[in-house]
Amino acid sequence: MKKEDTKFAVLGDIHGNIEALEAVLDDAAERNVNAYVCVGDIVGYNADPSACLEKIRAMDCIVVRGNHDHYCSHDESLDDFHPLAANVIDWTRHQLSDDQIEYLRNLKLSRMVSGFTLVHSTLDMPKKWGYVFDSLEAEANFNYQTTSVCFHGHTHVPVIYEKKGHVTRHEAQNITIALGKKYFINVGSVGQPRDGDPRASYVTYNLRTKEIEFCRVRYDIATTQAKIRKAGLPERLATRLEQGR
Ligand code: ZN
Repeated sequence: MKKEDTKFAVLGDIHGNIEALEAVLDDAAERNVNAYVCVGDIVGYNADPSACLEKIRAMDCIVVRGNHDHYCSHDESLDDFHPLAANVIDWTRHQLSDDQIEYLRNLKLSRMVSGFTLVHSTLDMPKKWGYVFDSLEAEANFNYQTTSVCFHGHTHVPVIYEKKGHVTRHEAQNITIALGKKYFINVGSVGQPRDGDPRASYVTYNLRTKEIEFCRVRYDIATTQAKIRKAGLPERLATRLEQGR
């Protein structure tokens, strides 16, 4: 396969939701995706961190480290975390094998792949895990972005920041990458969307046509919720899935 014939699926914030991940992979196969990358947070929040990790590792998928991947694989204080997230990080640590923890620990904070960049939060300070919610916050990232396209996640809200001179924020929509512009694209979340749409979110990127497509996929939310309850994880983690919040 020639490099330009590559059609990537860009996945992020899977967060231990195997039902959503499998639905997304089926959808991507139907769209003739032939390569996979991930902007991080494979684990955390939902009840199948280990299964999600194994699935991603078996796929030859380039992955960058998210904050949950980081805290689940480093013995660092969780004081800065929302108690809801801290509780699950502690639970998740106990679900992972030493080998899986080692894998997460060794993930890089940013990666360049086929002329585009991957990062979980922002390129200016990737280890600060800052959230980008507006054009001003995106501006700092662009100062460090050397490729025309950079994909990220972290907020669980799909959105496009486009820079030509100044930075403009666009709702998630299918676009074709234009010369002379830079794009900082949030792919949304596979496993815990927070834009009010409970369907799993990811994007495809066709290297030949330069088209970026935002995809939403229905999955079996009830099964994911049942597993969260069975594991004794906080009820809020189950209810938020059907609300997409
Ligand atoms: Zn996340």
